[in-house]
Amino acid sequence: MGAANSILAVRGLTVSFALAKKQYVQVVDSLDITIAPGETLGLVGESGCGKSVSALAIMGLLPEHACAARARESSFGGAPFTIRAGDACTLARGRDVAMIFQDALTALNPVATIGAQMVEAIRVYQTMAMAQALAMAAEALGALGIPDPRMRLGAYPHQLSGGMRQRVMIALALLHSPRLLIADEPTTALDVTIQAQILELMARLQREREMAMLFITHDLGVIGQICARTLVMYAGRIVEEGSTRDILTRPLHPYSRGLIESMPGKRARAAGEPLPAIPGRVPSPEEFAGLQGCRFAPRCARAEAICFREQPVLTAYDGRQAACHLAGRSDHA
Ligand code: SF4
Repeated sequence: MGAANSILAVRGLTVSFALAKKQYVQVVDSLDITIAPGETLGLVGESGCGKSVSALAIMGLLPEHACAARARESSFGGAPFTIRAGDACTLARGRDVAMIFQDALTALNPVATIGAQMVEAIRVYQTMAMAQALAMAAEALGALGIPDPRMRLGAYPHQLSGGMRQRVMIALALLHSPRLLIADEPTTALDVTIQAQILELMARLQREREMAMLFITHDLGVIGQICARTLVMYAGRIVEEGSTRDILTRPLHPYSRGLIESMPGKRARAAGEPLPAIPGRVPSPEEFAGLQGCRFAPRCARAEAICFREQPVLTAYDGRQAACHLAGRSDHA
């Protein structure tokens, strides 16, 4: 997809964290993200792969004293913007993009009522009387299925359930009808029933408002429910990109396959049989910066000699892309 018909197009995003003595270690390497208007794009990978950092970098929300971020190209709705750490860019300052986070309890102000926080958010972009802003806030909560919205405006975040707080976060994010919503693990902290309700709600709102969404999660089950297209990220790089259906049913990259096989309930297990898991752990940025070949090689059961020598690049195969030396081979099932 070209930048011209996308809502967000970022090419060659690189993010580094500062170490001691003005040295940096790269945590995101040459990431490309393109989202079409109205599309829901999934970004999936284990914790520590760089998913959230990439989103924060795009929004300009990384601290300048600890990070460096840049991209070869970046545009929103066809208009270029600059990505730079420590400088909330036009995306974060504008009303076209909103972001919601995993833990609503820490994202919301604990010492302000829901009403006060919503009125403040409304008045950033719209001049209106307090009574009118409160009515708008109550309407926004009601649209998210929150019962007695007028009464909830007087509540503090700790007085609401986890699911209710997450609905408040979504209501806040949608107040100004953004064209793009970045949702960073928005259901991870919720129990399964509430998670299903929130996912359904987000999918409905996304359809009704024709809003684009970048949905970040480590859970491929969630991706399967809400995203048409998916990027799989490992150790700071995209390793597979394609339709969610293709990735879930016939993954090209061994890491994608490992994530799928690790999904609880993926296959029946005998009593006492442990859950399948990808061996090892995601390397730290200091560790993967020193790897010469494929960053997944130390954990990959399919690794061959070339994998430890040469870094695979994203290559197109049958309508999608994968960064694996074996992806195009007939014996790679
Ligand atoms: S390039 Fe090699 S090590 Fe990396 S995922 Fe493919 S087979 Fe595994």
